[in-house]
Amino acid sequence: MPDAETRAVYQVLYQSRDEPLAMPAIRERVNALTGKANLQMDRRLRSLRTHFDVPAQRVPGKSNLFVYPLLGWNPDADKRTARKSIPASVRALVHQTYGNRCAACGRTPKDDQVKLVIDHMVPLDLDGTNEPDNLQLLCEEDNHDKQALFADHQENAAALRKSLSLPEVHLRIGELLKAMPGENVPKELIVLVAREENHGDPTKRMRELRSLGWVIRNSQRKEGRRVLSFYRLEHWEPWPPGGPQAAVASLERARRRKKRTRESAANSSQE
Ligand SMILES: [Zn+2]
Repeated sequence: MPDAETRAVYQVLYQSRDEPLAMPAIRERVNALTGKANLQMDRRLRSLRTHFDVPAQRVPGKSNLFVYPLLGWNPDADKRTARKSIPASVRALVHQTYGNRCAACGRTPKDDQVKLVIDHMVPLDLDGTNEPDNLQLLCEEDNHDKQALFADHQENAAALRKSLSLPEVHLRIGELLKAMPGENVPKELIVLVAREENHGDPTKRMRELRSLGWVIRNSQRKEGRRVLSFYRLEHWEPWPPGGPQAAVASLERARRRKKRTRESAANSSQE
């Protein structure tokens, strides 16, 4: 239960939600409500933010002035609760689907004494869900590696989120590469935004992007028991008007046609 002062801060933010106030005005009103001066506003704001979305918004044209609109529930608060509440039936389904095996290394508790955990393929922080199709089994070691990977790429969270929201696989991969120009993007991040079944085929997708004129370098590095794979974007082309999927398919059809013509030419010359 929040203390009376925190409730007063909430009350002031709620009353001013249509015309958010700057901190001096908020403090003044909270002081008036509680009859106390010099309250620590930072701490109270922080405690409210575990449940409510209260961003600091810069006032246009005034570089140093921020207002604090109360936008509603903190979406992350819901996710924190959601994290704990994967129903037992769904957990059982995921174990069954993955045959009680780590989706990354294939090890099992029985043969390899690993512990399996349920992993969100698209993490909850990136708007992933608790739906079965977003859940997989990982051994603790692979789960840990995955978390470390995302911790390393915190600054790319916005780019990942944006890519994940795009309608076509080439757009999702391509826009992520564009957001990380010149960087070695780990294959795992490509697989994540590709959102394809059974981890998809990143090598094929890169080949398809290259067929659209993109220059993407592939590199590998050995780290512990695994070989890590990276993609680095060196040149990109604007997306074709009909979308990359259609363009890739039409290039593929043209290639097959050419091959057939070559083959039939070869056949007729043999006759
Ligand atoms: Zn594993």
